[in-house]
Amino acid sequence: MKSNYDRSISMQCPTCGSESFEHSEDNPTVSCTRCDRTMTKDELREANGSRIEEELDALKAEVLSDVRADISKMFKKWK
Ligand SMILES: [Zn+2]
Repeated sequence: MKSNYDRSISMQCPTCGSESFEHSEDNPTVSCTRCDRTMTKDELREANGSRIEEELDALKAEVLSDVRADISKMFKKWK
């Protein structure tokens, strides 16, 4: 079974769809490098809420199918 399910969920700019943002440490906002839209990280997360849910669902499905594959392998060994 894979032990590493890390994946990065890319945020998309709600205006232009770019996935490239500039963050600064001492500033709570991010700005899109393509269209210069500036928004807070919360706004960006909210705008990408459904994408994040979809990624989580995909990840859950992946884990489940891996677990099932492992279990069926175990049973094959016992035959
Ligand atoms: Zn943009």
